[in-house]
Amino acid sequence: MDERRTRLCIVGGGPAGMFAGLLFARAGVETVVLEKHGDFLRDFRGDTVHPSTFRLFHEMGLLDRLLERPHDKVHRLGAFVGDRYVKIADFSRFDPRWNFIAMMPQWDFLDFVAGEARLYPNFQIIMNAEARGLITENGRVAGVRFKEKGTERKIRADLVIASDGRRSVLREEAGFKIRSLGAPMDVFWFRLPKAHTPDNRSTGIFVAGRIMALIDRGDYWQCAYVFGKGQEASVKAAGLDAFRVSIARAAPMMADAVDAIQSWDDVKLLSVALDRLEAWHKPGLLVIGDAAHAMSPIGGVGINVAVQDAVAAANILAAPMARGEDVDGLLGKVEKRRRLQVRTIQAFQDTAQKRIIQPLLAEEGGAFEPPRIFKWLDRLPWLRRIPAAFLGFGIRPEHIMSPQTKSPPP
Ligand SMILES: Cc1cc2nc3c(=O)[nH]c(=O)nc-3n(C[C@H](O)[C@H](O)[C@H](O)COP(=O)(O)OP(=O)(O)OC[C@H]3O[C@@H](n4cnc5c(N)ncnc54)[C@H](O)[C@@H]3O)c2cc1C
Repeated sequence: MDERRTRLCIVGGGPAGMFAGLLFARAGVETVVLEKHGDFLRDFRGDTVHPSTFRLFHEMGLLDRLLERPHDKVHRLGAFVGDRYVKIADFSRFDPRWNFIAMMPQWDFLDFVAGEARLYPNFQIIMNAEARGLITENGRVAGVRFKEKGTERKIRADLVIASDGRRSVLREEAGFKIRSLGAPMDVFWFRLPKAHTPDNRSTGIFVAGRIMALIDRGDYWQCAYVFGKGQEASVKAAGLDAFRVSIARAAPMMADAVDAIQSWDDVKLLSVALDRLEAWHKPGLLVIGDAAHAMSPIGGVGINVAVQDAVAAANILAAPMARGEDVDGLLGKVEKRRRLQVRTIQAFQDTAQKRIIQPLLAEEGGAFEPPRIFKWLDRLPWLRRIPAAFLGFGIRPEHIMSPQTKSPPP
């Protein structure tokens, strides 16, 4: 079997893995990322890049370059709650360099990070490389078994970072205990055509029995249609016509567009999970991002939390790794550093699921009394800065502390 060696092997080229790859490579660590897909052209991860992430790019001197990629800036967020449009979060009071959420398709975001990482000769990303399991020696993780274009290969590494998402095979194989907080919903994900508007109109819809999130991608809406967990079969059994009617009823501005859904093949199921590992590490292995703590889509924060995990990992581990030191004793520090933010955001998502989503989904056909918090947010402009700060930065946001020991060639 083909076998090679590196200092750091990162499994999964999503936001957590790509950002970690860039930071460790920038610090001079020999880094290989394995990504099972052949490109970043997948649309199932949402589009939001938050102020905390822009500040990190600024700290690396890359913000202006990132913002050359196509994006729309959203300074204020709102949603249709019942029959009213309600203002929810106001980012405009932050530092003008990051006083917005950017709606940036994730393939652009990941492609940018990959491009920056590739400038370092000590960085490599192998696409179409699917991790199948861990190499373990003397009770320590010593590398990864993977399949590349049909061929089984091995890569040995001093540290493996598993950032292979919510269905991580590595976290399963490592035998970590998973604590599930439960998620009452799943999502149908589909596109509906729209006319271009000068401003980005991404929004949410909360009406009795239905929740939708609409991402404005210029000439189409990327729609998330939220329904009770496990009810995929019954929604489908009611038929496509009933599905189209239900969308048009919840979002009347979509009524003319719903015929674009021609068959169930146009509608993808995304399963929502909210869970976390009881421990994120063992000798030779660190788990970050959704693989360590699957985030619910509520608040659209998962990408940014995953990026912050990568920053914390690099802050603590990159310099000693670049010096050739063994970092097993430091892995617990990464988990400890990130625990508070992850638990706080997951507690918020869990509460929103139980207090808003679950009751609302159960109310089909009934009268809808919007939760009082929406009324207060709409009425009090200063109050809207609180969700903006929470969603924009989270608790104890990270800063780039890992070194840049090697500059990429000009
Ligand atoms: C319906 C839905 C909508 C969402 N919308 C948003 C949003 O708008 N904004 C937001 O911030 N968050 C959103 N989230 C959450 C967000 O998608 C995740 O929290 C975030 O993508 C986690 O990043 P990650 O890098 O940890 O994992 P992922 O993004 O899942 O990336 C994991 C990567 O690992 C690769 N991989 C998997 N297995 C292997 C393997 N065996 N070998 C090699 N590679 C592998 C995958 O191909 C993938 O590229 C949403 C989630 C859901 C379910």
